[in-house]
Amino acid sequence: MTAKILVSACLMGHAVRYDGQAKPLVHPALDRWRDEGRLVTICPEMSAGMPVPRLPAEIEPGKSAADVLSGYGRVLESGGGDVTDEFRQAAENALALALETGCTYALLIDGSPSCGTGFVYDGRFSGRRQPGEGVTAALLKANGIEVFSDAQIEELMALADGAR
Ligand code: SF4
Repeated sequence: MTAKILVSACLMGHAVRYDGQAKPLVHPALDRWRDEGRLVTICPEMSAGMPVPRLPAEIEPGKSAADVLSGYGRVLESGGGDVTDEFRQAAENALALALETGCTYALLIDGSPSCGTGFVYDGRFSGRRQPGEGVTAALLKANGIEVFSDAQIEELMALADGAR
């Protein structure tokens, strides 16, 4: 069976990031997977009704994506607004779509409080990175989806193409 891949919309060139920009990843595997009908594109935050542009948001200092999912941490906008519910809904939407469409892998943009897989920002809007993952990435992983960052597309190729 052909492996399907859930993919961040901004990585596919959609201008859906908080700043109204895209963050396209150019790689021949992406073009091929798209032609083969193996990509399922979502912006989790937009799927939860968040606008473009929107204020930047980060997981609050000292908390993790797992804390957010379990009700012990919040996601806050730079202006102080609490968008925890939206980020949880975003993650649920992405998981539901992955399960409905049979995605066993996800390729997500790193650094995002939703899609980050290797690093996120420290919650103080200081620009400082720290190891961690976003809320969507954490929920996908917890439900058996193998998650890769944009920098790991070669690793994903080895697995996803091997599973064809
Ligand atoms: S939620 Fe994910 S797909 Fe949407 S803009 Fe942020 S990083 Fe991109």
